[in-house]
Amino acid sequence: MTPRKTRDHKISREATKLVHGGSLRSDFQETSEALFLTQGYLYDTMEAAEARFKGDDPGFIYSRYSNPTVAMFEHRMALLEGAEAARATASGMAAVTAALMGQLRAGDHIVAARALFGSCLYVVEELLPRFGVESTLVDGTDLAQWRAAMRPNTKTLFLESPTNPTLEIIDIAGVAEIAREHGATLVVDNVFATPLMQHPLKLGADCVVYSATKHIDGQGRTLGGVILASEAFIAAHIHTLLRQTGPSLSPFNAWVMLKSLETLPLRVAAQTRSAEKIADFLSEHPRVERTLYPGRSDHPQHALAKRQMKGGGTLVTFEVKGGKPAAFKFANALSIIGISNNLGDAKSLVTHPATTTHQRLKPEARARLGIGDGMIRLSVGLEDVEDLIEDLDQAFGALEAGKRRAAE
Ligand SMILES: *Cc1c(COP(=O)(O)O)cnc(C)c1O
Repeated sequence: MTPRKTRDHKISREATKLVHGGSLRSDFQETSEALFLTQGYLYDTMEAAEARFKGDDPGFIYSRYSNPTVAMFEHRMALLEGAEAARATASGMAAVTAALMGQLRAGDHIVAARALFGSCLYVVEELLPRFGVESTLVDGTDLAQWRAAMRPNTKTLFLESPTNPTLEIIDIAGVAEIAREHGATLVVDNVFATPLMQHPLKLGADCVVYSATKHIDGQGRTLGGVILASEAFIAAHIHTLLRQTGPSLSPFNAWVMLKSLETLPLRVAAQTRSAEKIADFLSEHPRVERTLYPGRSDHPQHALAKRQMKGGGTLVTFEVKGGKPAAFKFANALSIIGISNNLGDAKSLVTHPATTTHQRLKPEARARLGIGDGMIRLSVGLEDVEDLIEDLDQAFGALEAGKRRAAE
């Protein structure tokens, strides 16, 4: 088979890249990208196998290394991100772990923003030190803290922005500058912004990682991850580590995600429009203590958000008055919006970070991150926004009913 490639150089705009970019067609000339559910590949002759292994023939060898469907997904992601190279992984955490462990050696030092996805925090705080890598956590929004944490052996900096769950914004260009001055790299977990709303590589980051489980799948089905960087970065730190340790993305999951990329701009735009409306609704609701949404002018870092993001994103975080009992009662009363720790799904989902994703942290650590007991993180889905607002409103109504009963 001689796979036919789409002529990528003719594709310049985002939506077109996401429909056509990276397509490899078999001799059947299928319109929709094929699912190559195969572990291995046949060689016509022993000489052909020898040439493949020598690298003289660029074809596929084994699906732990690469697979045509996975390659299409990687290629399309690289086009979207404007990266030279991409590698897909079995989950977002496999991408984060490889992006960090691939660069770090015993005796190195990493600086990371304290407000990290829970499992990322585990990798930085517990896993890396086991291998002799020291870590320092800083308030990511304070550039002076990043600067003060730098040491001669600091190899890499790591952050996510907006952060989970408080939706703080970190100045990516500012942190990238500090990394450059010290000869370190910057890795950005860009899940919350999605590849459509923020371009960390353009802001000076060296490597971008995604949990493709979130908006990229977008319909709550498969786990996956992606690492994007220059050819040189991937060759030096990622390529061999992934091949030899095997956190490969399954071709089936790659196929689901590849097809999902076709609709990513439509989905994220619709979810963002709804998130904006919901943030406005929540900010005026008497049962809400505060609403955090990077797209609103009352967000503490709105100016920075506007500078580095194209939109406010699909997540809204808010604090229900009355702490944990009120937050639980409110969430339990929701009928359309589900309770789940997941995000980026077509289905709207709420989570209570203090008792789920951030349960592992001590109360003081949660307080330092600004995670209150009444805090709810809402991932806005694709339902009609009026239905979502009505659902939120009736759930707040359940709190009022409770109060009335208590007063009677
Ligand atoms: C979900 C998530 C991850 C981990 O991704 P998995 O696909 O669940 O392994 C990492 N970072 C952020 C910001 C996430 O939201």
